[in-house]
Amino acid sequence: MAVTADLDVAIVGAGISGLALAHRLRAAGRSVHVFESTAHVGGRMRTVRREGYVIDTGAEMVGTHGYPATWRLAGELGLSQADAPLFGAPLAMWREGLPHPGVGDLNGLVKGAGMTPGGRAGLLKMMAGAGLRKRSYDVERPDRTPLGTTTIREFARRYHPDVHDYLLQPLVGGFFGWDTERAAAGPLVSHLLAVGATRSFRSWRHGMDTLARLLASRVDVSTGVTVHEVVAGEHDATLVVDGAPLSAKTVVLAVPAPVAAELHAGVPDFVRAVEFRPMVKVICLLDRPIEPPDRGSAWGIAVPAVENPAFAGVLFDDRKPGRAPAGRGLLTLFAGPAVAGELVDAPNEEVADLLMGHAARYLPDLASACRVSVVVRYRHGLPMPTAPALAEFREFTRRPLSTVEYAGDWCMLRPSSEAAIRSAEVAAERLLVGADTELAVFGG
Ligand SMILES: Cc1cc2nc3c(=O)[nH]c(=O)nc-3n(C[C@H](O)[C@H](O)[C@H](O)COP(=O)(O)OP(=O)(O)OC[C@H]3O[C@@H](n4cnc5c(N)ncnc54)[C@H](O)[C@@H]3O)c2cc1C
Repeated sequence: MAVTADLDVAIVGAGISGLALAHRLRAAGRSVHVFESTAHVGGRMRTVRREGYVIDTGAEMVGTHGYPATWRLAGELGLSQADAPLFGAPLAMWREGLPHPGVGDLNGLVKGAGMTPGGRAGLLKMMAGAGLRKRSYDVERPDRTPLGTTTIREFARRYHPDVHDYLLQPLVGGFFGWDTERAAAGPLVSHLLAVGATRSFRSWRHGMDTLARLLASRVDVSTGVTVHEVVAGEHDATLVVDGAPLSAKTVVLAVPAPVAAELHAGVPDFVRAVEFRPMVKVICLLDRPIEPPDRGSAWGIAVPAVENPAFAGVLFDDRKPGRAPAGRGLLTLFAGPAVAGELVDAPNEEVADLLMGHAARYLPDLASACRVSVVVRYRHGLPMPTAPALAEFREFTRRPLSTVEYAGDWCMLRPSSEAAIRSAEVAAERLLVGADTELAVFGG
């Protein structure tokens, strides 16, 4: 490996946060090396290409809205929203044997999107309340929303039961793996207000790893190299890389918070307080596209835990451009948050059989169309904002600059790649300007 023991900045992790940070620091004239334990870049935004299928194993979408750091980075790499076509279709909610389209968009408010009239009235009331205080819901200040540490379950009790059962729970359970009994509502409301309608979601034309691949071609990355330990010194830090110590002026841990806490004994309290939720998916390579039971155009169907606690929904990946070869189909099945923890360690066949068995209820043609199933599991899927993490958040953003720094979605307590990219901007600002600047404490 062509790396000397005298590094300027060593970044652990070639996910989107580590790569974006490497790019920023390199552009500012710093010398940077990224260490990645797997054979691939992209982390939780990795795309696998197989037999003409383009398989997004982690992140599925980027927002037209609420993703400013992503679009800034894309612009620097010569990309724009034209390179990430709109889904332009609704998300549906399963209820009483059918998908109901329009979740998270205005159409749904009129047509219901699986909610009863009482539920719709509750949703309107919730939206009006959040909308009136929109300025207090800042994704960069998850600890200072009007909802404090109120959980999603507690928040939803203010409204009709449908607001929890047929909207908030399926959204956060399916897409983030969150448990509404413990996840804080404030950061969720901030995120939903920022990203807006589900119809406005986009996907990178050539796979969700588009930015990661471009970044990796511009920075120094060693793949297949595991960092086992990081020790902070006063003037530099030591990394143990595949058994050998290396020194660097700064080491940035761009890995999920629980991994950072395993690697470095001296992490701030916030890092230990951040909880990650597992995510398990089965991706089905189909010999033909299959349709939802209503023959509608939805890009996905969310399944509420009250309908099925083990199965959280399905995404029709083949409705994104270029994902399946002509005449073929591609879709993703999501485990429910109640079973994802067990499935993370289960054999592949068991996971595939379980999720495909559940999916047959919603997609009767699945078994006959599925040629190959790919099991994807993330022990550390997505960060969940809880009261203990919110309590430590501000202290973390105000910590003095150290020889060991951090990047990743969890630094913003937000379950999205936008947070990972924004955390890279913040980490770069800290390293280039110092921790005492206004920018280093998230603009305030
Ligand atoms: C199933 C799923 C669906 C998602 N859907 C969306 C979505 O639709 N839209 C969206 O915006 N976001 C989504 N996300 C979130 C998004 O994928 C993440 O926020 C983002 O990719 C996190 O990037 P990161 O760089 O912080 O971490 P990671 O991507 O986890 O990168 C960390 C890297 O560090 C490496 N590593 C770990 N330990 C070591 C070690 N000891 N030594 C060296 N390397 C190490 C890992 O292999 C990994 O490559 C989803 C996430 C999941 C899991």
